[in-house]
Amino acid sequence: TIGKIFDLTVKRFPNKEAIYDMRKNIRLTYKEWSEQVNQLAHVLLKEGVKKGDRVSTFLFNTEELATAFFACAKIGAVFNPINFRLTAEEVAYILSDASPKIVLFEKVLEPVISAIENRFEKISFWYIDEKTPDYAVSYNERLVSGTKENIQVEVDENDLYAIMYTSGTTGRPKGVLHKHRNIVEQSLIVIGATKLEDTDVGLVTAPMFHCAELHCNILPRVHAGCKNVILHQFNPKNVLQLIEQEKITKFFAAPTMWNMLLQEDLSLYNLSSLKLGLYGAAPMAPSLVHACHDRLGISLVQAYGMTEMGPAITFLSEADQLTKAGSAGRACLNHDIRIVRTREDGPSDPDDVVPKGETGEIIVQGPCMMTGYFGLDEATEKAMYKGWYHTGDIGYLDEDGYLWVNDRVDDMIISGGENIYPREVEDVLHAHKGVLDVAIVGQPDDRWGETVTAFVVKKDPSVTEQELDEFCKNSDNLANYKRPRKYVFCDALPRNASGKIQKFILRKQLEEIFTKRST
Ligand code: AMP
Ligand code: MG
Repeated sequence: TIGKIFDLTVKRFPNKEAIYDMRKNIRLTYKEWSEQVNQLAHVLLKEGVKKGDRVSTFLFNTEELATAFFACAKIGAVFNPINFRLTAEEVAYILSDASPKIVLFEKVLEPVISAIENRFEKISFWYIDEKTPDYAVSYNERLVSGTKENIQVEVDENDLYAIMYTSGTTGRPKGVLHKHRNIVEQSLIVIGATKLEDTDVGLVTAPMFHCAELHCNILPRVHAGCKNVILHQFNPKNVLQLIEQEKITKFFAAPTMWNMLLQEDLSLYNLSSLKLGLYGAAPMAPSLVHACHDRLGISLVQAYGMTEMGPAITFLSEADQLTKAGSAGRACLNHDIRIVRTREDGPSDPDDVVPKGETGEIIVQGPCMMTGYFGLDEATEKAMYKGWYHTGDIGYLDEDGYLWVNDRVDDMIISGGENIYPREVEDVLHAHKGVLDVAIVGQPDDRWGETVTAFVVKKDPSVTEQELDEFCKNSDNLANYKRPRKYVFCDALPRNASGKIQKFILRKQLEEIFTKRST
């Protein structure tokens, strides 16, 4: 179980620095951290949380969030980290679905909680802030804290460990259920793939409520006995400064974050401790991978996956970064991947495998697969049809066994009867030196079905549409029909917390721009 992993590391490395939280400027050894974890666990028990009860967090990247993660695991409570950027109504939806006993929230996020608190009489809302001493939480103006004694609750590897809400691009978020053993397996796989050792020092930059940061970074580091440095909110200068100050060796950042780091003056920092950078959660253009290599001088490892799978299902190793740039790598240990024909009328059939090299839906099996979506039998049945998780991503496997992820099924553009994967076009435009960020979407078109439209954030303000169009025309990697026929310049692209471009917002914007023009 996850609680057991934590306790074993505390035994192995009691006096080693375990965590440094930049915001509170506190450092804890594993033994000290364990006391905090036990304190919170006792508080939760005292307040009536039982095995299987949900406990939600609505917290920034903090030591408290990591502490809550392990405290819940130790008492068998089902951990539910909520995205701190959600609106009151979005939070209310998750709370009504997950119905937790307790919500631990960030004091500064109180306005969000106050707006919905009265709808949830059975839930206790507790806040914490930088000034809260040790692990205490404030509840109706009274401070609650527990003893530091080691907690004893029987938790089985097949007990539920978490419910995490995945931000679907359409419809309501779904609660993904995982058992302890699923995520312990994930941790072991990550330790192997990123060659983690206890001497490694990790930096937390991406949001901790997302499973990529929790399961592929924090947990494996605790598992291996490493130190975790927690950055409160992503800011490229803070990242670079912390790498130098804390001698960070490995860390994960979403592709947009790597892009932001590269915009800084890197010569101002000593980054020599860095050994490995991890990226994933969204596609990263090969030109950006190359730039990280050249300018940061580090090796990279990519992970591809989704919340439902724990999340990682493939890794692209350091050795393959340049030769297979653009691919998502090979299946993780103990994972099986198939490419199958998509169907209009239901989930694709796992046995309808396409010939090698052809594109289709990516489906996968592995030990970290979710138990299902909470309370959604039909959606679970569809997603896990015949025992394979249907990713909804389109891609292919090459002759060397590498997976290439093209796009989401829903984002694919069909123009003049031809399939166009936005990512191919995005990768080409990313390589233009005047382009900072780009997203390709399809715009409904009477004649062609859809036309390819590019949303571009300029790096160089003098870049013109004509110049980008010329660049695409001259590219060896872009057939003429894939060339964007329209450009929209904007200041930033809408992205969710894990760095994925929210294309539904862009499509809506396009609709608005278009109707305005025609009226
Ligand atoms: P989530 O469940 O929020 O982690 O979102 C999962 C989705 O993110 C996947 O289905 C992919 O569409 C996308 N994704 C994750 N990792 C990668 C990656 N390395 N390359 C391309 N897309 C990715
Ligand atoms: Mg998803």
